[in-house]
Amino acid sequence: MNLILFGPPGAGKGTQAQFIVERFRIPQISTGDMLRAAVKAQTPLGLKAKAIMESGGLVSDEVVLGIVQERLAQSDCESGFVLDGFPRTIPQALSLGDILAGLDRAIDHVISLDVDNAEIIQRLSGRRTCSACGKGYHVLYDPSKNADVCDVCGGALMQREDDKEATVKNRLDVYDRQTAPLKEYYEQAGLLRHINGCGPIRDIQQQIGELLKGPSGDNS
Ligand code: AMP
Repeated sequence: MNLILFGPPGAGKGTQAQFIVERFRIPQISTGDMLRAAVKAQTPLGLKAKAIMESGGLVSDEVVLGIVQERLAQSDCESGFVLDGFPRTIPQALSLGDILAGLDRAIDHVISLDVDNAEIIQRLSGRRTCSACGKGYHVLYDPSKNADVCDVCGGALMQREDDKEATVKNRLDVYDRQTAPLKEYYEQAGLLRHINGCGPIRDIQQQIGELLKGPSGDNS
């Protein structure tokens, strides 16, 4: 099963991707996570991407396509994958189609997590991540027991630089201009499936589970 999880920043793509990974045993391919790892490791690619990511802009299609192409060729993607945060532009979507055609594969579903802007801003501004183990929290919806300390490892909780208010606004503008047009693209390809991304995480998981095990989703 080859999936794309689509939606604005803060729609819950990472959270729902984790559920899909566990339920369907396919790897999550998150370009945001891969780029953050490169920034942390201070690789040449990471050094190039850092300032762009902190401003809320998009890293060049060329750079992102390079890392996705390499990742999709790895053996754990043979049984399928869930793309999270990619593609984000029409050229990325076109190139993804070419990469997959070269591997004799195709996308089965594009799952769009629909969430309005007011909710997104509240979600992103409250998001925190453990600087040591990476576990995610939210100050309102999923707080840690002790403020600013990870329940699992005791690491310090941090706010992502690009979750700060001014950057969030830019990320949403970038999404509207460059990424939202992909909905039309995948709608026309007959691949777009809408999921209401508001409400309890478990309800959203259930909707996704139903969609993927339904008659048209039974591709595993
Ligand atoms: P995310 O964690 O998916 O919100 O991504 C964080 C940041 O990484 C984005 O704001 C972009 O700067 C960069 N990024 C992630 N995925 C892509 C992509 N597919 N194309 C361009 N930039 C990306």
